[in-house]
Amino acid sequence: MIRKWFNYHAHLDKGFLIPPYKYKDAAAPKRAEWTREAKIHMTKEEIKKSASLALEKMHQFGTVYVRTHVDVDSLFELRAVEALLELKEQWKEKIIIDIIAFNQEGFDRFPETEVLLKEALKLGVNGIGGHTSIDKNGKEHIDKIFQIAESSYCDWIEFHTDETGREDDFLLPYLANEVTNRQLKDKVTAIHCCSLANVDEVLAQKTIEEVALSEMTVTTCPTAIATRKLTRVKDLANAGVTIQLGSDNLRDYFNPLGSGNMLQYAQLLAYVQRFYELEDINQLISWIEAKPENERVQKQLEKLSGQFEYPLYTNSELLAEAPHPKISHLNLI
Ligand SMILES: [Zn+2]
Repeated sequence: MIRKWFNYHAHLDKGFLIPPYKYKDAAAPKRAEWTREAKIHMTKEEIKKSASLALEKMHQFGTVYVRTHVDVDSLFELRAVEALLELKEQWKEKIIIDIIAFNQEGFDRFPETEVLLKEALKLGVNGIGGHTSIDKNGKEHIDKIFQIAESSYCDWIEFHTDETGREDDFLLPYLANEVTNRQLKDKVTAIHCCSLANVDEVLAQKTIEEVALSEMTVTTCPTAIATRKLTRVKDLANAGVTIQLGSDNLRDYFNPLGSGNMLQYAQLLAYVQRFYELEDINQLISWIEAKPENERVQKQLEKLSGQFEYPLYTNSELLAEAPHPKISHLNLI
């Protein structure tokens, strides 16, 4: 059976650490510091080399689309965006790479990021993104990302949202209301939404209704379970929210593992939140094979050369075994 998969959140720019960088277990702020240190020194060629290793894995496991969140700040400046733009062209027959110019480190730490994000938009990235937990005033951070997005056309606006999981770090209601007021709908994605898992039931249900009303999408990254609870995936889906899955980090200072196999990430979510009944399994598989509602991407998908054939037929078998597909390439004219 022919299948293909979609990865809605990946940090290709810092994955697959190459020597002298290597993973060591330490507190998260320490590993974030090592990441910032590496970002100062990594050249464009090194970024391309690391990202290519991740893309090769994703391709081998039947992924045809990856939305990658590429850091733009005073450390990387625009090197990582330039590297990924070159890879986007090189890989265009195998994987569609949508690039989000991403403010991972915050405006407080690096105020020059605002200018750099505007420059990145001019270079032809597909979207812009922020990180609601990184600056002292998360609401101002969100507003500023929206303002920059409005200064230029882009397909996607994406936020690492309430990534810490803390109850006092809960900006999803604010984000959902802003998306409703600005009528941005599925142009906006909230990634992680971990705090939603920890707030009380009444507030959680009210927020889920607000997210559904806004029509924004939510991306969950199952590997985040290593450090905090995943968001309320079933409740969001039952309320009509579109759910997407992402690999998040691959073999970097935040995750020394990471296969790039979307079936394996779906399997992890199945275990953690008991997607066990046939209907659950079919729903989960439908999320990793859902195309973005975007004409540009859908046209590009028709031009891909790869065919990924799985000898297993049922979704339950695919989820249980997360196998490699057999790859063949069509001759493109
Ligand atoms: Zn992430």
